[in-house]
Amino acid sequence: MKEFYTHVNKKLYYFTVVIVIAIMIIGLLMGNPRFGKFDVGYIFHTGLVIILSACLLLYPKYITHVFRLIIITVASAYFYALFFLYPDTWSTFIFLCFIPAIAILFFDSKLFYFSILLNSVAIMFTLSYIMLFDNGYPYIKQDLIGNVINFIGSQVIIYFIFYLSQGRIKKQLLYYEQIQQAERLKTTGQLAAAVAHEIRNPLTVVKGFLQLYQKDAGFSEDIKGKFTLMIDELNIAEQVITQFLSIAKPNKETEIETVNLKVVLQSVTDLLHSYGLLHDNKIELIRVEDCYIAANNIEFKQLLINIIKNAIEASKIGDSVIVSAGRNKGFVEIRVVDFGQGMSEAEIKSLGTPFYSLKSKGTGLGMMICYNIAAKYKGTIDFESTKGEGTTVTIRFPSKNY
Ligand code: ADP
Ligand code: MG
Repeated sequence: MKEFYTHVNKKLYYFTVVIVIAIMIIGLLMGNPRFGKFDVGYIFHTGLVIILSACLLLYPKYITHVFRLIIITVASAYFYALFFLYPDTWSTFIFLCFIPAIAILFFDSKLFYFSILLNSVAIMFTLSYIMLFDNGYPYIKQDLIGNVINFIGSQVIIYFIFYLSQGRIKKQLLYYEQIQQAERLKTTGQLAAAVAHEIRNPLTVVKGFLQLYQKDAGFSEDIKGKFTLMIDELNIAEQVITQFLSIAKPNKETEIETVNLKVVLQSVTDLLHSYGLLHDNKIELIRVEDCYIAANNIEFKQLLINIIKNAIEASKIGDSVIVSAGRNKGFVEIRVVDFGQGMSEAEIKSLGTPFYSLKSKGTGLGMMICYNIAAKYKGTIDFESTKGEGTTVTIRFPSKNY
């Protein structure tokens, strides 16, 4: 997974593992009171060293949850074995306290909770056993309460370290994903701009000739009417391209206006009303507060159209799409809720990738354009979705006072 992402990390891992194995072997051979006797305890100790070493060395090849679970269990067994085999070595108790720390190194929170639970149960049994049946461990018997408090304290410290490192890792992953998304947008934006630009030139030439023929007396009025139609269509195509270019080229200035959300939402729902009727889908506009944002009217409309259109297209026949808007802590929040096919986590992650579309006639450009527009005005678009149940899209833009 991510922790073995780079070659350097892998090298560091093997380096550390080799040192750990060396220490375990030294512990087995040097100054060991059981060395030379080769009793059951010593063989058990040796076996655990071999198994744990093999697990640690093989881990980079099998980076799975199950394998991590095995390592934690074997490591716990190893440290408890040390504790029971060498009752005169008080420092083995420290290892018992810090077993859950191993799980932190694996960046696996479930495993951490499992480990801390397993360790607490195991220590309870261990201490009870010592108090009731064992003659050794004077350092535990003399101050049982002190040892229990120390154990609890160590678990709290470990939990604190886990909590802090987990938060940082999550933040970093989020940042990494955002950078990737931004990079994707940049390259596709440039590509799209180049393509759109190339299409505009031939369009201009064709339009020019059609305008020329329109004035030519050699053509009948009937044909001239068709030329007008063709010119109109070309004008629309030109408009779309111009609009697209303005989005794809972030440095090109578009006018920033005060967008009245109520007005824009009404006009967008009116526009999409008949589109929804094709499959008997209604767009219900509920609870729209008076809010304003600073953006370009046309671009903001385009964003809403894309998202509401997607919601309609995902809906089953007869279902409604619910749109609401309100203010929340300095932000304007627009929610588009549908009860349609929904998306898996992986599908949500792919949104915004150009040409990613699961529809037979989809372009897969809609969400890319939406993310582009949102980023331009410091807005965000978040998806919450359950496969087969529906999707909630939350669009957030900084609120503007009017
Ligand atoms: P297009 O609509 O042309 O396919 P988009 O970029 O607008 O391209 O959307 C990409 C894909 O995201 C869609 O094909 C669809 O599978 C998925 N999608 C977007 N919005 C929703 C939604 N509300 N519910 C389910 N799937 C959605
Ligand atoms: Mg779409």
